[in-house]
Amino acid sequence: MTSKSAAAAARATVYGYPRQGPNRELKKAVEGYWKGRVTADALRGTAAELRAANWRQLAAAGIQEVPTGDFSLYDHVLDTSVMVGAVPERHREAVAAGALDGYFAMARGTQDVAPLEMTKWFDTNYHYLVPELGPDTAFAAGSGKQVAELKEALALGLSARPVLVGPVTYLLLAKPAPGVAADFDPLTLLDRLLPVYAEVLADLRAAGAAWVQLDEPALVQDRTPAELNAAARAYRELGGLADRPQLLVASYFDRLGEALPVLAKAPVEGLALDFTGAGAGNLDALAEVGGLPGKRLVAGVVDGRNIWVNDLGKSLTTLGTLLGFADRVDVAPSCSLLHVPLDTAPERDIDPQILRWLAFARQKTAEVVTLARGLADGTDTIATELAANRADLASRAGSALTRDPAVRVRTAAVTEADSRRSHAYPDRAAAQRTRLGLPLLPVTTIGSFPQTGALRAARADLRAGRLDTAGYEDRVRAEIQEVVTFQEKAGLDVLVHGEAERNDMVQYFAEQLTGYLATQHGWVQSYGTRYVRPPILAGDISRPAPMTVRWTEYAQSLTGRPVKGMLTGPVTMLAWSFVRDDQPRADTARQVALALRDEVRDLEASGSAVIQVDEPALRETLPLRTGDREAYLAWATEAFRLTTSGVRPDTQIHTHMCYAEFGDIVQAIDDLDADVISLEAARSHMQVARELASHGYPREAGPGVYDIHSPRVPSAEEAASLLRKGLEAIPAERLWVNPDCGLKTRGWPETRASLESLVSAARTVRGEL
Ligand code: GLN
Ligand code: ZN
Repeated sequence: MTSKSAAAAARATVYGYPRQGPNRELKKAVEGYWKGRVTADALRGTAAELRAANWRQLAAAGIQEVPTGDFSLYDHVLDTSVMVGAVPERHREAVAAGALDGYFAMARGTQDVAPLEMTKWFDTNYHYLVPELGPDTAFAAGSGKQVAELKEALALGLSARPVLVGPVTYLLLAKPAPGVAADFDPLTLLDRLLPVYAEVLADLRAAGAAWVQLDEPALVQDRTPAELNAAARAYRELGGLADRPQLLVASYFDRLGEALPVLAKAPVEGLALDFTGAGAGNLDALAEVGGLPGKRLVAGVVDGRNIWVNDLGKSLTTLGTLLGFADRVDVAPSCSLLHVPLDTAPERDIDPQILRWLAFARQKTAEVVTLARGLADGTDTIATELAANRADLASRAGSALTRDPAVRVRTAAVTEADSRRSHAYPDRAAAQRTRLGLPLLPVTTIGSFPQTGALRAARADLRAGRLDTAGYEDRVRAEIQEVVTFQEKAGLDVLVHGEAERNDMVQYFAEQLTGYLATQHGWVQSYGTRYVRPPILAGDISRPAPMTVRWTEYAQSLTGRPVKGMLTGPVTMLAWSFVRDDQPRADTARQVALALRDEVRDLEASGSAVIQVDEPALRETLPLRTGDREAYLAWATEAFRLTTSGVRPDTQIHTHMCYAEFGDIVQAIDDLDADVISLEAARSHMQVARELASHGYPREAGPGVYDIHSPRVPSAEEAASLLRKGLEAIPAERLWVNPDCGLKTRGWPETRASLESLVSAARTVRGEL
């Protein structure tokens, strides 16, 4: 086929769409069902309506082949486990009693059984339920949901393409079931799994699917030769089936690398590749493998993970190059639109001019349709759209929001020395010891105390105008007073103010920094029925006024013990926001770091001797390919140091991390040069303490001795035994005593009892030294 006919055949498509509905109807229906207020039929009805509305919207926008099966009541990886019959032993009874309740038992657990584990979907902020497999796993095809959703779309008169998690990614995302040897490799189940996929594919074809999409994002990560062989085998086998629809194997979130030649050779009819961000590497790689002759190439040229309008001209250039590589080139967002909010139209608080820079799922759909039209019918047919797009991009590039000269001058003047403390750690440690006079094994917390219903109600009242600012701040001060009094009485050594004033550890700062935008309706699924509204890092970042000082100052005025100032670090500010795409992340991180640096200095000037800068997200935004990690860690750790290095040697800088295994970033933790780090460790029995020790980590550390993810109160004996374990790795002069993370999700009764256990454990173990 010539590139001209490849162009003429171009279509627009998407791999998946936000599930929640314009007003988060799905969340309300599912949670209503859990509470017994919504019947199973009503829940199914709401779900079907939302699917139909999405498909109609996509079709009306010009998507000729709508995706089906991407919808989920909770999570699409869980749906895949159900589809292949991988129900853990402990959930079988619930599933037998009722498919829907069994499904939610796997997702959330019940009184008696634990749910599946949840973890991050690649480097996004979406979380999936981890399949549990073992040598005894017996797969069985259950194509019911996929077939039913396909039929719903076909019944609307639409053409549709079912989307499934591919077999290789499914196995690579799985973990050994409880009781199975930890070194069991789920990929050994591939031969057992493929016949199940074959059956599902046959069912979908029988139901009317011309194409089926198999998502294999795991193939964009570094893969061993054995894993690549498994992928080759899987697609040779599925491609060789007699009774099957045409197959589109989709990859996203990065470039395919070594997996590209494997998939290019596979007997499947189409490949979907990401050409945004690090995925741009796919372009050269395609040339190297000689293109995809005879195949359909779906080109992800519109970033499916950020919220910025596409540079249509640039995308057309990429698409033009791709036309030479395949028989047919379709245009798509780089990944499912699940990761962006639904629609910019309902946003009322964002300046209309700025709103035009933003593209949520609906706008991104329009972009891929426009691009496909330009490709198929010539760019003059989209001249109006191109002109409008150029104007929007120009307005963004020239805006005072994205170009603040004062910020630019300051960032450009940053030197290497600005991100170094004035004194080496041993000198600082000595100065801090003198200034703080803390006992051995000092006890502290991670920052937040229980966010009570009364506090949240006060915040809602403030928003609704039922409470004025002064009244609200009185409430916050009362809360701080209670938190400080409790900590003094309980005998903690380094206190906190409790973060009562914060709705969220990123949003609170985003609201006060210039350059950040907030949305009213920009909900994105984090997991199950939990949705978040990430703020948007839209412009140059500056801090018009101190953000936290008065609260910490107030807390300090109530006690003679040190109160830790508490900030969110630059890497986490980026990780939990939508980040601007018109400059490198490193530059944005540096701007945020400078704003936070001012806050750190103001805290110090107001009397804080201890300041904590949280970086729980440092590990989670690690690039998917190991080769890209060094560069990331370099700018990430530099941003942290820039934030924290402007203080005197006797001011103690803490940091905190959680949600992760830290084994592969110990060097980066060291590079932060924080005086003290607290880490999640209770569940892993102080594993991280051993990791720090074997690295030779020279500074102070508080591996958590209280698992705050559970309402369980640790006994003093339990905490003491964890401390003794910690002491095997970290000497007493450098060991801190603290929970795993903040206490905001806990209730007061268990918080009180648990912290009393910690203090008592510290006293016992101090006595043994
Ligand atoms: N200081 C924050 C808190 O205590 C840290 C939260 C986090 O690590 N996720 O809540
Ligand atoms: Zn934490």
